[in-house]
Amino acid sequence: MAHRIVVVGAGYSGLRAARRLARSLPEASVTVVNPRAQFVERVRLHQVAAGYRPREYALPDLLRADGAEFVVGTAQTLDPRGRLLGVDTLAEPLPYDTLVYALGSVAQAGPAGAAEHAVTVADPGQARLLRDRVDSLARERGTVAVVGGGLTGIETAAELAESHPELRVRLLSAGEPGSTLSDRGRRHVLATLHRLGVEVCPEAKVVAVYPEGVELAGGARVEAGLTVWASGFGVPDLAQRAGIAVADGGRVAVDSSLRSLSHSDVYAVGDSAAAHGPGGRPMRLSCATALPLGRYAADVIAARLHGRSPRELRFRYLIQCVSLGRRDGLIQFVAGDDSPHEKVVTGSGAAAIKERVVRYAARSATGR
Ligand SMILES: Cc1cc2nc3c(=O)[nH]c(=O)nc-3n(C[C@H](O)[C@H](O)[C@H](O)COP(=O)(O)OP(=O)(O)OC[C@H]3O[C@@H](n4cnc5c(N)ncnc54)[C@H](O)[C@@H]3O)c2cc1C
Repeated sequence: MAHRIVVVGAGYSGLRAARRLARSLPEASVTVVNPRAQFVERVRLHQVAAGYRPREYALPDLLRADGAEFVVGTAQTLDPRGRLLGVDTLAEPLPYDTLVYALGSVAQAGPAGAAEHAVTVADPGQARLLRDRVDSLARERGTVAVVGGGLTGIETAAELAESHPELRVRLLSAGEPGSTLSDRGRRHVLATLHRLGVEVCPEAKVVAVYPEGVELAGGARVEAGLTVWASGFGVPDLAQRAGIAVADGGRVAVDSSLRSLSHSDVYAVGDSAAAHGPGGRPMRLSCATALPLGRYAADVIAARLHGRSPRELRFRYLIQCVSLGRRDGLIQFVAGDDSPHEKVVTGSGAAAIKERVVRYAARSATGR
Protein backbone atom coordinates (compact mmCIF):
# COMPACT_ATOMS: atom_id res chain seq x y z
CA MET A 1 0.00 0.00 0.00
CA ALA A 2 1.19 3.53 -0.75
CA HIS A 3 2.56 5.49 2.23
CA ARG A 4 -0.29 7.75 3.40
CA ILE A 5 0.66 11.33 4.21
CA VAL A 6 -2.04 13.58 5.65
CA VAL A 7 -1.45 17.33 5.88
CA VAL A 8 -3.86 19.04 8.25
CA GLY A 9 -4.17 22.77 7.57
CA ALA A 10 -3.67 24.37 4.14
CA GLY A 11 -2.23 27.76 5.01
CA TYR A 12 1.22 28.93 3.96
CA SER A 13 3.15 26.10 5.64
CA GLY A 14 0.75 23.21 5.05
CA LEU A 15 0.12 23.99 1.40
CA ARG A 16 3.83 24.52 0.74
CA ALA A 17 4.59 21.16 2.37
CA ALA A 18 1.75 19.27 0.66
CA ARG A 19 2.57 20.41 -2.86
CA ARG A 20 6.25 19.63 -2.43
CA LEU A 21 5.51 16.21 -0.92
CA ALA A 22 3.14 15.31 -3.74
CA ARG A 23 5.75 16.23 -6.34
CA SER A 24 8.74 14.60 -4.65
CA LEU A 25 6.91 11.42 -3.56
CA PRO A 26 4.63 10.38 -6.45
CA GLU A 27 4.56 6.85 -4.99
CA ALA A 28 2.93 8.13 -1.75
CA SER A 29 -0.62 9.41 -1.29
CA VAL A 30 -0.90 12.98 -0.02
CA THR A 31 -4.24 14.20 1.39
CA VAL A 32 -4.83 17.73 2.63
CA VAL A 33 -7.59 18.63 5.12
CA ASN A 34 -8.71 22.24 5.50
CA PRO A 35 -11.99 23.84 6.65
CA ARG A 36 -12.32 25.96 3.49
CA ALA A 37 -11.81 25.05 -0.15
CA GLN A 38 -9.95 28.36 -0.63
CA PHE A 39 -6.39 29.23 0.34
CA VAL A 40 -6.49 32.29 2.62
CA GLU A 41 -3.79 34.95 2.33
CA ARG A 42 -3.84 35.50 6.04
CA VAL A 43 -1.31 38.32 5.93
CA ARG A 44 -3.93 40.40 4.10
CA LEU A 45 -6.75 40.01 6.63
CA HIS A 46 -6.30 43.53 8.02
CA GLN A 47 -6.73 44.70 4.41
CA VAL A 48 -9.89 42.59 4.11
CA ALA A 49 -11.20 44.36 7.23
CA ALA A 50 -10.61 47.65 5.42
CA GLY A 51 -12.54 46.55 2.32
CA TYR A 52 -9.94 44.74 0.17
CA ARG A 53 -11.27 41.81 -1.93
CA PRO A 54 -8.62 39.08 -1.92
CA ARG A 55 -7.76 36.91 -4.90
CA GLU A 56 -9.39 33.48 -4.81
CA TYR A 57 -7.24 30.34 -4.89
CA ALA A 58 -9.20 27.07 -5.19
CA LEU A 59 -7.39 24.45 -3.11
CA PRO A 60 -8.80 21.35 -4.90
CA ASP A 61 -7.46 22.63 -8.25
CA LEU A 62 -4.08 23.67 -6.85
CA LEU A 63 -3.56 20.34 -5.14
CA ARG A 64 -4.85 18.21 -7.99
CA ALA A 65 -2.29 19.85 -10.27
CA ASP A 66 0.46 18.42 -8.05
CA GLY A 67 -1.20 15.04 -7.52
CA ALA A 68 -2.58 15.56 -3.98
CA GLU A 69 -6.11 14.93 -2.72
CA PHE A 70 -8.21 17.51 -0.89
CA VAL A 71 -10.80 17.04 1.85
CA VAL A 72 -12.82 20.03 3.00
CA GLY A 73 -13.38 19.70 6.74
CA THR A 74 -12.13 20.52 10.20
CA ALA A 75 -9.99 18.04 12.11
CA GLN A 76 -11.64 17.58 15.47
CA THR A 77 -9.84 14.60 16.97
CA LEU A 78 -6.43 13.04 16.59
CA ASP A 79 -5.56 9.54 17.73
CA PRO A 80 -1.77 9.30 17.41
CA ARG A 81 -1.65 5.66 18.58
CA GLY A 82 -4.13 4.50 15.96
CA ARG A 83 -2.82 7.14 13.48
CA LEU A 84 -6.31 8.42 12.81
CA LEU A 85 -7.50 11.97 12.17
CA GLY A 86 -11.19 12.61 12.92
CA VAL A 87 -12.65 15.12 10.45
CA ASP A 88 -16.15 16.58 10.88
CA THR A 89 -17.16 15.98 7.24
CA LEU A 90 -15.98 12.34 7.03
CA ALA A 91 -17.97 9.36 8.31
CA GLU A 92 -14.75 7.45 9.12
CA PRO A 93 -11.51 8.83 10.59
CA LEU A 94 -8.75 9.43 8.08
CA PRO A 95 -5.81 7.01 8.53
CA TYR A 96 -2.23 8.21 8.04
CA ASP A 97 1.31 6.89 8.16
CA THR A 98 2.81 10.39 8.42
CA LEU A 99 0.94 13.47 9.63
CA VAL A 100 1.98 17.05 8.89
CA TYR A 101 0.41 19.29 11.52
CA ALA A 102 -0.06 22.81 10.08
CA LEU A 103 -3.02 24.33 11.92
CA GLY A 104 -1.61 27.83 12.15
CA SER A 105 -2.70 30.12 14.97
CA VAL A 106 -5.79 31.80 16.37
CA ALA A 107 -6.39 35.12 18.12
CA GLN A 108 -5.15 35.03 21.68
CA ALA A 109 -7.98 34.87 24.18
CA GLY A 110 -8.70 38.27 25.68
CA PRO A 111 -10.00 39.35 29.10
CA ALA A 112 -13.63 39.31 30.28
CA GLY A 113 -16.00 40.37 27.53
CA ALA A 114 -13.50 40.08 24.65
CA ALA A 115 -15.01 36.90 23.20
CA GLU A 116 -18.52 38.43 23.21
CA HIS A 117 -17.84 42.05 22.30
CA ALA A 118 -14.57 42.24 20.33
CA VAL A 119 -13.75 41.11 16.81
CA THR A 120 -10.34 39.98 15.53
CA VAL A 121 -8.40 39.92 12.28
CA ALA A 122 -7.07 36.41 12.86
CA ASP A 123 -9.41 34.55 10.49
CA PRO A 124 -11.34 35.45 7.34
CA GLY A 125 -14.80 35.24 8.93
CA GLN A 126 -13.82 37.71 11.65
CA ALA A 127 -12.08 40.00 9.15
CA ARG A 128 -15.25 40.18 7.02
CA LEU A 129 -17.37 40.81 10.12
CA LEU A 130 -15.01 43.62 11.07
CA ARG A 131 -15.27 45.08 7.54
CA ASP A 132 -19.07 45.19 7.76
CA ARG A 133 -19.10 46.69 11.23
CA VAL A 134 -16.43 49.26 10.38
CA ASP A 135 -18.41 50.36 7.33
CA SER A 136 -21.51 51.11 9.39
CA LEU A 137 -19.51 52.66 12.26
CA ALA A 138 -17.71 54.97 9.82
CA ARG A 139 -21.07 56.25 8.54
CA GLU A 140 -21.83 57.34 12.13
CA ARG A 141 -18.32 58.83 12.54
CA GLY A 142 -17.82 56.38 15.41
CA THR A 143 -14.72 55.17 17.26
CA VAL A 144 -12.87 51.89 16.90
CA ALA A 145 -10.40 50.73 19.55
CA VAL A 146 -7.65 48.42 18.28
CA VAL A 147 -6.13 46.55 21.22
CA GLY A 148 -2.54 45.37 20.76
CA GLY A 149 0.64 47.31 20.07
CA GLY A 150 2.33 44.50 18.15
CA LEU A 151 2.64 44.48 14.38
CA THR A 152 -0.87 43.11 13.74
CA GLY A 153 -2.48 45.84 15.86
CA ILE A 154 -0.34 48.53 14.21
CA GLU A 155 -1.13 47.29 10.69
CA THR A 156 -4.84 47.05 11.47
CA ALA A 157 -5.09 50.53 13.02
CA ALA A 158 -3.20 52.10 10.09
CA GLU A 159 -5.28 50.27 7.48
CA LEU A 160 -8.62 51.24 9.06
CA ALA A 161 -7.57 54.87 9.56
CA GLU A 162 -6.40 55.24 5.97
CA SER A 163 -9.41 53.50 4.38
CA HIS A 164 -12.00 55.21 6.64
CA PRO A 165 -10.75 58.74 7.42
CA GLU A 166 -14.11 59.61 8.99
CA LEU A 167 -13.55 56.92 11.65
CA ARG A 168 -11.82 57.74 14.94
CA VAL A 169 -9.17 55.04 15.47
CA ARG A 170 -7.47 54.44 18.82
CA LEU A 171 -4.56 52.03 19.27
CA LEU A 172 -4.31 50.74 22.85
CA SER A 173 -1.06 49.07 23.81
CA ALA A 174 -0.05 47.54 27.15
CA GLY A 175 3.51 48.83 26.57
CA GLU A 176 5.11 50.88 23.79
CA PRO A 177 3.67 50.02 20.35
CA GLY A 178 6.19 48.37 18.04
CA SER A 179 8.52 47.38 20.85
CA THR A 180 10.16 44.67 18.70
CA LEU A 181 11.33 47.28 16.16
CA SER A 182 14.48 49.41 16.13
CA ASP A 183 14.26 53.00 17.42
CA ARG A 184 14.17 54.33 13.86
CA GLY A 185 11.54 51.81 12.87
CA ARG A 186 9.37 52.63 15.87
CA ARG A 187 9.70 56.38 15.25
CA HIS A 188 8.51 55.93 11.68
CA VAL A 189 5.56 53.80 12.78
CA LEU A 190 4.48 56.36 15.38
CA ALA A 191 4.88 59.29 12.96
CA THR A 192 2.81 57.49 10.32
CA LEU A 193 0.07 56.53 12.76
CA HIS A 194 -0.03 60.18 13.85
CA ARG A 195 -0.25 61.36 10.22
CA LEU A 196 -3.15 58.94 9.63
CA GLY A 197 -4.95 60.34 12.68
CA VAL A 198 -4.60 57.24 14.87
CA GLU A 199 -4.65 58.11 18.58
CA VAL A 200 -1.91 56.00 20.12
CA CYS A 201 -2.42 55.15 23.80
CA PRO A 202 0.69 53.46 25.26
CA GLU A 203 0.69 51.87 28.72
CA ALA A 204 -3.03 51.13 28.28
CA LYS A 205 -3.58 47.57 29.45
CA VAL A 206 -7.13 46.46 28.68
CA VAL A 207 -8.70 44.33 31.42
CA ALA A 208 -12.31 44.11 30.19
CA VAL A 209 -14.29 44.66 26.99
CA TYR A 210 -17.88 45.98 26.88
CA PRO A 211 -20.26 46.69 24.00
CA GLU A 212 -19.50 50.40 24.37
CA GLY A 213 -15.72 50.26 24.94
CA VAL A 214 -12.99 48.86 27.17
CA GLU A 215 -11.77 49.19 30.73
CA LEU A 216 -8.09 49.74 31.48
CA ALA A 217 -6.04 48.51 34.43
CA GLY A 218 -6.59 51.22 37.02
CA GLY A 219 -10.28 51.51 36.16
CA ALA A 220 -10.36 54.14 33.38
CA ARG A 221 -12.81 53.49 30.54
CA VAL A 222 -12.16 54.13 26.85
CA GLU A 223 -15.29 54.51 24.74
CA ALA A 224 -15.47 52.74 21.39
CA GLY A 225 -18.35 51.57 19.22
CA LEU A 226 -16.19 48.63 18.17
CA THR A 227 -13.20 46.86 19.72
CA VAL A 228 -10.67 44.89 17.68
CA TRP A 229 -8.72 42.34 19.70
CA ALA A 230 -5.25 42.09 18.15
CA SER A 231 -3.01 41.43 21.10
CA GLY A 232 -1.28 38.26 19.94
CA PHE A 233 -1.82 34.70 18.81
CA GLY A 234 -2.49 31.36 20.47
CA VAL A 235 -2.78 27.97 18.76
CA PRO A 236 -5.56 25.36 18.33
CA ASP A 237 -5.48 22.71 21.06
CA LEU A 238 -5.89 19.60 18.85
CA ALA A 239 -2.34 18.32 19.46
CA GLN A 240 -2.50 18.95 23.19
CA ARG A 241 -5.85 17.14 23.48
CA ALA A 242 -4.34 14.21 21.57
CA GLY A 243 -1.49 13.82 24.06
CA ILE A 244 1.20 15.04 21.67
CA ALA A 245 4.05 16.81 23.48
CA VAL A 246 3.60 20.58 23.32
CA ALA A 247 5.53 23.68 24.40
CA ASP A 248 5.12 27.46 24.13
CA GLY A 249 1.39 27.56 24.91
CA GLY A 250 0.27 24.45 23.01
CA ARG A 251 2.59 24.45 19.98
CA VAL A 252 3.86 21.01 18.98
CA ALA A 253 7.29 20.40 20.51
CA VAL A 254 9.62 19.39 17.67
CA ASP A 255 13.25 18.44 17.13
CA SER A 256 15.51 20.17 14.63
CA SER A 257 13.93 18.13 11.81
CA LEU A 258 10.43 19.39 12.82
CA ARG A 259 9.47 15.91 14.03
CA SER A 260 7.29 15.70 17.14
CA LEU A 261 9.31 14.93 20.27
CA SER A 262 6.65 12.45 21.39
CA HIS A 263 5.38 10.92 18.11
CA SER A 264 7.89 10.15 15.36
CA ASP A 265 5.25 9.97 12.60
CA VAL A 266 4.04 13.52 13.29
CA TYR A 267 5.74 16.66 11.91
CA ALA A 268 4.69 20.21 12.75
CA VAL A 269 5.21 23.36 10.69
CA GLY A 270 4.29 27.04 10.74
CA ASP A 271 2.68 28.86 13.65
CA SER A 272 1.60 25.65 15.38
CA ALA A 273 5.17 24.29 15.68
CA ALA A 274 7.36 25.22 18.66
CA ALA A 275 10.40 25.46 16.39
CA HIS A 276 13.63 27.24 17.25
CA GLY A 277 15.71 29.30 14.86
CA PRO A 278 19.15 30.90 14.84
CA GLY A 279 20.50 31.43 18.35
CA GLY A 280 17.95 28.97 19.71
CA ARG A 281 15.26 31.67 19.74
CA PRO A 282 11.60 30.71 19.20
CA MET A 283 10.78 31.40 15.57
CA ARG A 284 8.61 34.38 14.64
CA LEU A 285 4.97 33.57 13.78
CA SER A 286 5.17 34.64 10.17
CA CYS A 287 5.21 33.60 6.54
CA ALA A 288 8.96 34.11 6.66
CA THR A 289 8.97 31.12 9.01
CA ALA A 290 5.98 29.12 7.74
CA LEU A 291 7.08 28.80 4.11
CA PRO A 292 10.64 27.55 4.70
CA LEU A 293 9.42 25.21 7.44
CA GLY A 294 6.76 23.74 5.16
CA ARG A 295 9.33 23.18 2.45
CA TYR A 296 11.88 21.75 4.87
CA ALA A 297 9.43 19.30 6.51
CA ALA A 298 8.53 17.98 3.05
CA ASP A 299 12.22 17.43 2.27
CA VAL A 300 12.83 15.69 5.59
CA ILE A 301 9.87 13.34 5.12
CA ALA A 302 10.89 12.55 1.53
CA ALA A 303 14.51 11.91 2.55
CA ARG A 304 13.50 9.55 5.35
CA LEU A 305 11.06 7.64 3.16
CA HIS A 306 13.85 7.22 0.61
CA GLY A 307 16.21 5.96 3.35
CA ARG A 308 18.42 9.06 3.31
CA SER A 309 19.46 11.33 6.20
CA PRO A 310 17.74 14.69 5.94
CA ARG A 311 19.82 17.82 5.42
CA GLU A 312 19.97 20.37 8.22
CA LEU A 313 17.67 23.38 8.15
CA ARG A 314 19.64 26.47 7.09
CA PHE A 315 17.61 29.47 8.09
CA ARG A 316 18.19 33.16 8.77
CA TYR A 317 15.79 36.07 9.01
CA LEU A 318 16.53 39.10 6.85
CA ILE A 319 13.69 41.63 7.18
CA GLN A 320 10.35 42.30 8.84
CA CYS A 321 7.74 43.97 6.63
CA VAL A 322 5.07 46.20 8.16
CA SER A 323 2.30 47.81 6.12
CA LEU A 324 1.06 51.22 7.29
CA GLY A 325 -1.92 51.58 5.01
CA ARG A 326 -1.52 51.16 1.26
CA ARG A 327 0.88 54.05 0.69
CA ASP A 328 3.38 53.72 3.54
CA GLY A 329 5.24 50.97 5.31
CA LEU A 330 8.35 49.90 7.12
CA ILE A 331 10.98 47.39 6.09
CA GLN A 332 12.92 46.60 9.25
CA PHE A 333 16.26 44.89 8.62
CA VAL A 334 17.07 42.22 11.20
CA ALA A 335 19.95 39.95 12.17
CA GLY A 336 19.66 36.24 11.35
CA ASP A 337 18.08 35.62 14.76
CA ASP A 338 15.42 38.30 14.05
CA SER A 339 16.80 41.02 16.34
CA PRO A 340 16.39 44.45 14.70
CA HIS A 341 19.19 46.54 13.11
CA GLU A 342 18.85 50.31 12.88
CA LYS A 343 18.63 50.02 9.07
CA VAL A 344 15.09 50.57 7.76
CA VAL A 345 13.30 51.47 4.54
CA THR A 346 10.18 53.61 4.94
CA GLY A 347 7.44 55.30 2.93
CA SER A 348 6.00 54.31 -0.43
CA GLY A 349 9.13 52.28 -1.28
CA ALA A 350 8.54 50.14 1.80
CA ALA A 351 4.85 49.73 0.91
CA ALA A 352 5.86 48.50 -2.55
CA ILE A 353 8.40 46.03 -1.13
CA LYS A 354 5.85 44.69 1.33
CA GLU A 355 3.30 44.17 -1.45
CA ARG A 356 5.89 42.26 -3.47
CA VAL A 357 6.77 40.08 -0.47
CA VAL A 358 3.09 39.31 0.18
CA ARG A 359 2.58 38.28 -3.46
CA TYR A 360 5.74 36.18 -3.36
CA ALA A 361 4.47 34.42 -0.21
CA ALA A 362 1.16 33.53 -1.87
CA ARG A 363 3.00 32.31 -4.99
CA SER A 364 5.36 30.15 -2.90
CA ALA A 365 2.41 28.51 -1.15
CA THR A 366 0.06 28.10 -4.10
CA GLY A 367 2.42 27.90 -7.08
CA ARG A 368 0.18 30.47 -8.86
C1 LIG B 1 -3.85 40.34 10.04
C2 LIG B 1 -2.58 39.55 9.98
C3 LIG B 1 -1.46 40.13 9.38
C4 LIG B 1 -0.28 39.40 9.30
N1 LIG B 1 0.79 39.98 8.69
C5 LIG B 1 1.90 39.27 8.52
C6 LIG B 1 2.99 39.81 7.79
O1 LIG B 1 2.97 40.96 7.36
N2 LIG B 1 4.08 39.03 7.59
C7 LIG B 1 4.14 37.75 8.07
O2 LIG B 1 5.14 37.07 7.82
N3 LIG B 1 3.14 37.22 8.79
C8 LIG B 1 2.02 37.94 9.02
N4 LIG B 1 0.98 37.39 9.72
C9 LIG B 1 1.15 36.05 10.32
C10 LIG B 1 0.97 34.97 9.25
O3 LIG B 1 -0.28 35.12 8.63
C11 LIG B 1 1.07 33.60 9.88
O4 LIG B 1 2.28 33.51 10.59
C12 LIG B 1 1.02 32.52 8.79
O5 LIG B 1 -0.24 32.54 8.16
C13 LIG B 1 1.31 31.16 9.40
O6 LIG B 1 1.14 30.18 8.43
P1 LIG B 1 0.60 28.74 8.86
O7 LIG B 1 0.68 27.88 7.67
O8 LIG B 1 1.27 28.30 10.10
O9 LIG B 1 -0.91 29.01 9.28
P2 LIG B 1 -2.15 29.61 8.48
O10 LIG B 1 -1.70 30.37 7.30
O11 LIG B 1 -2.97 30.30 9.49
O12 LIG B 1 -2.91 28.31 7.99
C14 LIG B 1 -3.47 27.38 8.89
C15 LIG B 1 -4.56 26.62 8.16
O13 LIG B 1 -5.01 25.57 9.00
C16 LIG B 1 -6.42 25.55 8.97
N5 LIG B 1 -6.93 24.90 10.17
C17 LIG B 1 -7.00 25.40 11.42
N6 LIG B 1 -7.55 24.50 12.24
C18 LIG B 1 -7.84 23.41 11.50
C19 LIG B 1 -8.42 22.15 11.79
N7 LIG B 1 -8.81 21.81 13.02
N8 LIG B 1 -8.56 21.26 10.78
C20 LIG B 1 -8.15 21.56 9.52
N9 LIG B 1 -7.58 22.74 9.20
C21 LIG B 1 -7.43 23.66 10.18
C22 LIG B 1 -6.80 27.02 8.86
O14 LIG B 1 -8.14 27.19 8.41
C23 LIG B 1 -5.77 27.50 7.85
O15 LIG B 1 -6.20 27.31 6.53
C24 LIG B 1 -0.21 38.09 9.84
C25 LIG B 1 -1.34 37.51 10.43
C26 LIG B 1 -2.51 38.23 10.51
C27 LIG B 1 -3.72 37.60 11.15
